[in-house]
Amino acid sequence: MHYHPPPHSRRRFLRVSAGPLLACGIAESFSDSLYAQARNRSYRYDLVVKGGRVVDPSQGIDGQRDVAISGTKIARIADTIPESDALHVVNASGRIVTPGWIDIHVHVYDGVAPLAIPADPSCVAKGVTTVVDAGSAGAHTFPGLRKQVIEVADTRVLALLNISVVGQSTLSQDNPWGELLDLRYANVDLAARTIERNRDVIVGVKVRLTQNIAGDHDLEALRRARQAADAAGVPVMVHIGGSHSSIQDILKLLKKGDVITHSFRGGEGGILDAQGVIHDEVLEAVANGVHLDIGHGAGSFAFDTAEKALEQGLLPGTISSDLHQFNVHGPVFDLATTVSKFLHLGLSLDDALRRVTVNPSEVFGALNGLGTLREGAEADIAVLETEEGRFQLTDALGQTRVGRRMLRPVASIKAGKLYGSASIPVERL
Ligand SMILES: [Zn+2]
Repeated sequence: MHYHPPPHSRRRFLRVSAGPLLACGIAESFSDSLYAQARNRSYRYDLVVKGGRVVDPSQGIDGQRDVAISGTKIARIADTIPESDALHVVNASGRIVTPGWIDIHVHVYDGVAPLAIPADPSCVAKGVTTVVDAGSAGAHTFPGLRKQVIEVADTRVLALLNISVVGQSTLSQDNPWGELLDLRYANVDLAARTIERNRDVIVGVKVRLTQNIAGDHDLEALRRARQAADAAGVPVMVHIGGSHSSIQDILKLLKKGDVITHSFRGGEGGILDAQGVIHDEVLEAVANGVHLDIGHGAGSFAFDTAEKALEQGLLPGTISSDLHQFNVHGPVFDLATTVSKFLHLGLSLDDALRRVTVNPSEVFGALNGLGTLREGAEADIAVLETEEGRFQLTDALGQTRVGRRMLRPVASIKAGKLYGSASIPVERL
């Protein structure tokens, strides 16, 4: 990232400092000149991201544009915006500029959910300006998520509330027992009340149905999640795979607006039958408005499933990482690596970026209006590089593919504030 003040301000600096420099010494003249600069010059924009290839699926834009920011909002998007109009200029030439990414499945309740990671190094530092913590907290532990993460992280963090009051605090590598083994923890009224009191940041209800989490009463756990979500008027996100009940029985309890995460997982309980054909019930659910989310995770994304689903014309609505402690060092690394896997699978750049920008912004009400570079929108931007080569891509089952193109997050802007660069370790072949 070449970040530099526009040349005219340097000129101004030299002009202002030339006199006092001789008379009063360097330090004084330097501060005098900065004060003078601040007093005398007002800029039309705070920041311009200049010369990048803007890809904004929400507006059908794919081409070279400049993007100007005033305060926390996108002020203008145009073919050319003069550098002299902006206090700061980010040179994005040769790079991709997209709306800040939205990852609707991460775990960032660091210190309480054993699998969680700190949000900022893996999210806002890597192009992801907004995340949804997917059920790390339940009603009893949510106040801590709000106070210790949502209100202090630089990443914009929203949350799905786990239907279990304890959230994901019980399951760890040392204690393989999930939050719904005792159904008495699935308290509908308490969940609904917690959502009501935190409507600004809780966007829905999360329920995990794997057998070591929900035992053989997974459908009752889902019914309770449904009741709490309906009472609060928000959707349910269901984590599928390895459950006691069939996906058909699970789908019967879902409705328009709900989300299935881990939708391209391998193994039992997924979207494919034993012959690799998509279950009719899955296609019906999608036609009825149920969203398919990826939620890659440590065990929930299989190239085989993805290839078969795409061959049959089924695309996910959103690409999310399910980033947590046990996949952040691989095979997930970050959302950019997950998106690169979909480029390898044949999605166009526009189709892939749509699934981490405008699509997720439409899944949950509180995200509406994000995921776009429209004038007046929140100034959230991801700046990326594309690297060509041969890259080993690994799914959650250890299967590998050779990718030819990797997206590398270079910088993020969230609500008008510029965050620095980060790169990711991916094995070169
Ligand atoms: Zn998860």
